[in-house]
Amino acid sequence: MKNKIYDVVIIGGGPAGLASALYAGRARLSVLVLEKPEVGSLLMAHKIENYPGIAGSPTGKEIQSLMKKQTLDFDVTYVNATFLAFDFSGEHKIVKTDGDNFKTKSVIIATGWAKNESKKLPGEKEYLGKGVSYCATCDGAFTRNMTVSLFGSGEEIAEEALFLTKYSKEINIFIVDECHHCDESIMNVLKSNEKVKIFYSSKLLEIKGDEYVEELVVSHNGEITTFKSQFAFLYLGTKSLAELYGEVAPLDAQGYIVTNEYMHTSIEGVFAAGDVRSKVVRQVTTATSDGTIAALEAIKYVLKKAHQK
Ligand SMILES: Cc1cc2nc3c(=O)[nH]c(=O)nc-3n(C[C@H](O)[C@H](O)[C@H](O)COP(=O)(O)OP(=O)(O)OC[C@H]3O[C@@H](n4cnc5c(N)ncnc54)[C@H](O)[C@@H]3O)c2cc1C
Repeated sequence: MKNKIYDVVIIGGGPAGLASALYAGRARLSVLVLEKPEVGSLLMAHKIENYPGIAGSPTGKEIQSLMKKQTLDFDVTYVNATFLAFDFSGEHKIVKTDGDNFKTKSVIIATGWAKNESKKLPGEKEYLGKGVSYCATCDGAFTRNMTVSLFGSGEEIAEEALFLTKYSKEINIFIVDECHHCDESIMNVLKSNEKVKIFYSSKLLEIKGDEYVEELVVSHNGEITTFKSQFAFLYLGTKSLAELYGEVAPLDAQGYIVTNEYMHTSIEGVFAAGDVRSKVVRQVTTATSDGTIAALEAIKYVLKKAHQK
């Protein structure tokens, strides 16, 4: 156990965590950011065209390193370590990792969406950013005049397919079984669009290609068929890291942390920000917004505690 008591430990060095680090660092709090190496949604984004003020389609990695650099003037400490558990039994909160354990007055959880933790399909990792995507809102604009395919179930797949109708030439929607949670009005719009084909009882088996995705091997009604497609958008369910946070706050049906609009969890001094939170829109803009609010709340919490002594 390290002896230093931090004002705030931020778990996660993506846009939510880095926005928090910037605000908390500028407020002269002692800040530690824990980063699990080579993990995070922003690192996987091959082009970002919709973060205001940053033109020229940089990669997610480039934006993330600019964000990190900006915090370094404010004495933010970074440690590569994977968060494992909390201990809230003593005066200070303890954050346990696969390396050291750290004492802190407050915590901001910003560990993002855990899609990258889940089991991968053959070809999924290889073609990520080369036709494999988890977000049509992010990558739809790159599918102009292409054939694209979406796989999954639930309302997200229908909403994302509708977005793609603005760009793609042909859209195949492969639904795992029946789309019980799909919004009927959206499904009706999709069914009446001649670009769209919907296949029920379908399962993606393999993603194939050369440099980019070219073919998808799909089991449909028990038969194995290969479909030509330049994009595979996957909505196959996630095992969220939020499962680690059951003691901190209620989790929503998908396992994301439920906070209020101030990013408060159920534990005083513990906040959650970014994709790990239960919310409607998961983008870089919304992650930095959450991180800002969480940091301002953490600053208030730490200062209030100091005055109470
Ligand atoms: C392929 C792809 C393309 C995208 N394109 C766009 C786009 O064009 N525009 C857009 O606005 N958004 C895009 N997004 C979404 C955007 O990247 C996310 O909404 C955003 O990065 C969320 O930020 P975050 O800080 O919450 O999480 P992340 O960016 O996922 O960062 C999470 C951080 O937590 C750390 N972490 C995770 N687990 C642990 C642990 N146990 N211990 C310690 N640290 C941990 C990771 O190392 C990482 O630093 C895209 C996402 C993907 C996957």
